[in-house]
Amino acid sequence: MSTPVNITAGSHVWVEDPELAWIDGQVSKIDGKNAEIQTSDGKTVVANLSKLYPKDMEAPAGGVDDMTKLSYLHEPGVLQNLAIRYELNEIYTYTGNILIAINPFQRLPHIYDAHMMEQYKGAPFGELSPHVFAVADVAYRAMINEGKSNSILVSGESGAGKTETTKMLMRYLAFLGGRVATEGRTVEQQVLESNPVLEAFGNAKTVRNNNSSRFGKFVEIQFDKHGRISGAAIRTYLLERSRVCQVSDPERNYHCFYLLCAAPPEVIEKYKLGNPKSFHYLNQTNCYELSGINDAHDYLATRRAMDIVGISEKEQDAIFKVIAAILHLGNIEFAKGEEIDSSVLKDEKAKFHLKMTAELLMCDAQALEDALCKRVMITPEEVIKRSLDPLAATVSRDGLAKTIYSRLFDWLVDKINVSIGQDPNSKSLIGVLDIYGFESFKTNSFEQFCINFTNEKLQQHFNQHVFKMEQEEYTKEEIDWSYIEFVDNQDVLDLIEKRPGGVISLLDEACMFPKSTHETFAQKLYQTFKTNKRFIKPKLSRTDFAIAHYAGEVLYTSDQFLDKNKDYVVPEHQDLLGTSKCPFVAGLFPPIAEETSKSSKFSSIGSRFKLQLQQLMETLNSTEPHYIRCVKPNNLLKPAIFENVNVMQQLRCGGVLEAIRISCAGYPTRRTFFEFNNRFGLLAPEVLEGNYDEKVACKKILEKKGLTGFQIGKTKIFLRAGQMAELDARRAEVL
Ligand code: ADP
Ligand code: MG
Repeated sequence: MSTPVNITAGSHVWVEDPELAWIDGQVSKIDGKNAEIQTSDGKTVVANLSKLYPKDMEAPAGGVDDMTKLSYLHEPGVLQNLAIRYELNEIYTYTGNILIAINPFQRLPHIYDAHMMEQYKGAPFGELSPHVFAVADVAYRAMINEGKSNSILVSGESGAGKTETTKMLMRYLAFLGGRVATEGRTVEQQVLESNPVLEAFGNAKTVRNNNSSRFGKFVEIQFDKHGRISGAAIRTYLLERSRVCQVSDPERNYHCFYLLCAAPPEVIEKYKLGNPKSFHYLNQTNCYELSGINDAHDYLATRRAMDIVGISEKEQDAIFKVIAAILHLGNIEFAKGEEIDSSVLKDEKAKFHLKMTAELLMCDAQALEDALCKRVMITPEEVIKRSLDPLAATVSRDGLAKTIYSRLFDWLVDKINVSIGQDPNSKSLIGVLDIYGFESFKTNSFEQFCINFTNEKLQQHFNQHVFKMEQEEYTKEEIDWSYIEFVDNQDVLDLIEKRPGGVISLLDEACMFPKSTHETFAQKLYQTFKTNKRFIKPKLSRTDFAIAHYAGEVLYTSDQFLDKNKDYVVPEHQDLLGTSKCPFVAGLFPPIAEETSKSSKFSSIGSRFKLQLQQLMETLNSTEPHYIRCVKPNNLLKPAIFENVNVMQQLRCGGVLEAIRISCAGYPTRRTFFEFNNRFGLLAPEVLEGNYDEKVACKKILEKKGLTGFQIGKTKIFLRAGQMAELDARRAEVL
């Protein structure tokens, strides 16, 4: 970032620290290219001069509400500013027009109440303290005044506060664009109540967040010509399907399962439910209850929210019946049958759960058993029924559970959209994106691949926007910006999505070729990307591969890529449920058109996701974007703990540092002529006495000090990175 200047013995600097990321200290000695520093925690360290950053000794004690107001814009300065503010419960800080939000992990009093909403309504941006309401307000005003659609992109890692932020944005937009309540449900009420419904079915407790959204979401709020909410559409992305049958301690399955187990006794009796501990899909982990959450209460609350979004009582019953069926389905266990490689129901318990599943899904019990344990093979000569061994039957059972669940989730989203309704005459809209941030775990699979692909796309959009905004500021001030360049991540995107030849394309090819395995797929990747700078083949592995993402390198395990990319419903399952006597269940499995089932052997999740992303990007590109970067200050999910290294890493992944870098490549420090002369006038008293015009005075001071490369705009002076520090050093000599 900014180049160190004028560091001498006595200078106050920031130096890298393995624990704190950065620590402040004072230079005691300079020896060639190295400096010896006495750090504020009492240590003596030696560091290369190029690794030091000047510390602003005049930075306000309470921090600044906008990073661009920092005199020295660099990593340690940014971190320090956020830490100071967080300690004062100031969780919001701007970086230009990006809002950084640090999760307080506690309800801060009054900051989201009605009075606060009134305050932000129509207030010029930057006048009040940074806030989500301010961002929503700007988006709304811009939409009204310019008739252009706007979008607010909320990102951050799991548990950083994206969903809470999104809800706050939606509440504020409903406040601005709501109408006086008439009878019945208003559109904005429905929009708001869609949150608890989707959360019940799409959120779960994970290690990172007790209420983690396991899907991405884009909510498009439509406005009429009077600026009132007139419709809305919700699009969701990649629900995590595996969680339905596989949960690891101390996480939980989707909330709805526990809500249902806490339903009133008559419901429990009707569906033969009971203790969650008795169900395989719930008892793989020891976590059943969440502190502060009352499942019985939430069951009723979810049903009330469902009423509001227009899901009828009958539909609600059908939905929970399906949820109950999934729980029973998971308890159907298999044992070896008499024939070789065949399976039978393990015991009486398995038979009971099979019967219950069939009853709840309203299909024939024997047909259900066959669909789970047998496959029909059609050859030109005959139709053969082949048995599955117990392991394969279990896989078949879990596959069915996942398919039913994800179809149910899609049904909910569609239903909510139909019931809220779209406004075909809508003039403009505000889109709110709440989507998973960059992920890099111990093992990373296809899901992380798709998630990180999303983040690469959004990162590109972000960079282009930040770059454009910088240019606009320069143009407005009529200064030259022609040489500023920025590094694009197009090469990573090409590696992933190029057709033909990108990873997704190669994966689809592998899925279509019956003999492929993850080994052959990995080999193909190694061959194809041998010389690609963004692709890495780990030395000791024969099936893993790594991608150098903008936020860092991620190692992917290719084992399950092929399986996870295939969106495949076993025809036996389709036939079984497509003919269910329950219209709701049958509706989840509409007949597949004859041609499509034959022609395309499989449908690719990767390619479909890529298409969804493309559509999302098109929508976003037609809007004026606003960015909110959520940051999780610690992994303990506790208030008042600010972990420097952790936060730094997130600022890097969220592109905040990149934005600062882009800004530093140009003229990161801007001061009005008045501000500048005020601070540095004493460097050239004769200039101040000369009664010059502000702008001229400014230029004279800079020239006297021998600075070059700065630019003089119409109202402000634009300094290169480090120049402010250089001037301060001169000033210190004079003082
Ligand atoms: P994400 O969607 O990024 O995974 P959430 O929005 O679900 O994260 O937030 C995780 C948790 O953090 C919430 O359940 C809540 O307890 C807390 N939280 C997040 N934002 C705030 C906030 N602005 N005020 C108070 N608590 C918050
Ligand atoms: Mg979330």
